[in-house]
Parts: sequence; structure tokens; C-alpha cells
Amino acid sequence: MSGNQSISDLAAAAISELAPYQPGKPAEELEREYGISDVIKLASNENPNELPAGVRQAMQSAIDDVQRYPDGAGFALRNALADKLDVSPDCITLGNGSNDVLVLLAETFLTTGINAIYDQYSFVVYRLAVQATGAEARVAVANPRDHEQPLGHDLEAMLRLVDNHTRLVFIANPNNPTGTWVEREQLYAFLQSLPAHVIAVIDEAYYEYASGDDHPDALQWLNEFPNLVVTRTFSKAYGLAGLRVGYSVSSPQIAELLNRVRQPFNVNSIAQAAAVAALREHSWLQRCRAVNQTELEGLRAGLLKLGIDCLPSRGNFVLAEIPQADDCYEFLLRAGVIVRPVANYGLPAYLRISIGSQAENQRLLASMAIYMEQCS
Ligand SMILES: *Cc1c(COP(=O)(O)O)cnc(C)c1O
Repeated sequence: MSGNQSISDLAAAAISELAPYQPGKPAEELEREYGISDVIKLASNENPNELPAGVRQAMQSAIDDVQRYPDGAGFALRNALADKLDVSPDCITLGNGSNDVLVLLAETFLTTGINAIYDQYSFVVYRLAVQATGAEARVAVANPRDHEQPLGHDLEAMLRLVDNHTRLVFIANPNNPTGTWVEREQLYAFLQSLPAHVIAVIDEAYYEYASGDDHPDALQWLNEFPNLVVTRTFSKAYGLAGLRVGYSVSSPQIAELLNRVRQPFNVNSIAQAAAVAALREHSWLQRCRAVNQTELEGLRAGLLKLGIDCLPSRGNFVLAEIPQADDCYEFLLRAGVIVRPVANYGLPAYLRISIGSQAENQRLLASMAIYMEQCS
């Protein structure tokens, strides 16, 4: 190569401005870097419970067929989901994690001259997916800290950003990293107000954890709103984060468009088999939900006792308010506890803590108590 051309100048303009996703620190990495053992990770909202035997067996059986390509149409999984959710299989698009589906939505509906809307404190993948297409990102200001849903989505602020060039609006319910949620009536009113040329993406990654009579199941409105897409995942409550499988439910017209962009074999065969088996584990899932609820309440109460306030949460994590969050994060790392800094979300005074097993949560609280003692 001659001249002073730099490779990075060759990237498409939209890509030059992208910052890569920062995942939670893997436990092995911390063990390597700090020379410590017995690390626990409460950083990626994973399910801490052991998988049911039926799911393990399904994966084991699927191994026998790995020489073959997976079923590109995901027939068995789409049918199992359709049965469970009471929708037609044509409404379902499978993804390599729901992250994949979010990217497919951006690739399908966005381009330069078009815009998409998301909240300032919502899942960073929205920003990445939108920016990579060259579309304009319109970032809505979140609720204030003293709101009933602190730092949560302000749906009216989002609506005010809609214009003729808007194609997507992303709403996470419950939201990551805040844990906050949008109630049924509010969300329904929002969908009614949204013009037909804007697709509402309701990201229900934590749906299985959310409880409350006022909590919406956005799937119930699919027939009413052809511009509605609901995304869900097997990564969180179903405990299959490492396999990468998620999906969207939408009108068949939207699913047909996504299918044009989707890689033909985007969900691997072991993941498909495990997900089908996981859908049968109703009582296991209920138990995970119940344990999460108890542990979440215990963790919040324990943190509050130490003088640390958390936002309300319907997920399997809490957003804890800690003025010296980066300092606290480092302290916890040295104690072998990985949590998630959220400065990259614009929240430098908070840490996101996933709900782990009871023993893990107790260890987090014990380390946090030492930290708070040191600070006082
Ligand atoms: C974790 C998460 C996802 C997606 O996870 P996948 O593993 O890609 O399915 C999507 N949305 C939100 C809000 C999340 O927190």
C-alpha cells in the first residue's frame, strides 16, 4: 500500500463514527488479569440457575447432526413459539439473539435521510444498529430522576421526535439498564398515537421476569397495529445466553421483509433444539421468576441498608446509584465481583447489578459493605 492512506479512512462514514459494544467483563478475563480466582459475574443479566435436564438432553441430541446445516426456516422452533404465543408461525422471525433481529429491523427500514428514535438511557444496541445504517438517530430525553419511573422512557418525548422520515422507534419494556417499565395503558395510547409509517419495536427481553397487573403483553395488540414488532429472547429468563437465540413477532408483512435480509442460517441447530426444549419447561421458568423476585427484593433492601438507592426494576437486575461508581466498580473487581459500569449509557453515577444466586448476591452485599465502610 502506498501513500498515507489509512485503512480506517476507508470505512463507510457511518462506521467511522461507531464505538463498539462493551460487553460485561468475562469472569475468566478478570481471573487472568488480576490473578484471582472464585470470581462471580453479575454483569450481563444472565439466569444464574442450572439448566433443566430436558434442555441439556436436547442439546446433546442435536450434536449428532452438526455436520448438517441447521433448518434455515427454523420450522420446529417457529411452530413451538407460535403455539405458545398463539400467533401464526408466519409472524415469527428468528435471530442469533434478539440483537440480530434488532439489527435486521434497522437494515430493513433505515437508510440515510431516514431517522429512528430511542431513549437516551436505553439498550446501546439500538444506537449501534441505527448508526451503522447511516440513518439519523433521534434520542429522546428520559424521565427525570424524581419521576415515578426514574430515568425511564418518556413516551410523549419520543412521539414529539416523530416526523415524516421516521421509520423505527425502540421501546424496551422493561428497559435495560434502568429496569423501569411502561404500563399497559400508556403503551397502548402511544401505539394509537404513532403514525402508520413508523414501526414500533417493543423490546421485551425481560418480559418473562416482569410481573404486575398493569404490565403489558404487547403481543395482544399485533392484530390491531400492523406497524408493531415485539422482540423477545432466550438469553435472559430462559437461561440460554451463550447459544444466541431470540425472535420477533410482527405482522407477516414485516416478517417477510426481515426474511429478505436475514442470513439463511442465522440460528444454529443446537440453539434451535435447546429453545424448543426450553419452551416446555414451564415450571422451571416459574421457579426462576420466583427466585429472581425474592432475590431482587433482598438485594435492593440490602443495598438500601448500606445507603445505596436503586431504581425500581421489573427485570433481573437493578440500577444502583453510587456517586463514585468507577471507583466502586474497581473495588468490586478486586474482590472478585463483576458488575456493570454504565457510564457509556450516560449514567456515570450508577452501576447495574444483575440478580445472581442467593450466595452470589450475599457476596456482592458483603463486598459492598466493606466498600461503603471505606468510603465513610
Ligand atoms: C439482553 C438484551 C437484549 C438481547 O439479548 P440477546 O441475547 O441478543 O437476545 C435485547 N434487549 C435488551 C433490552 C436486552 O437487555
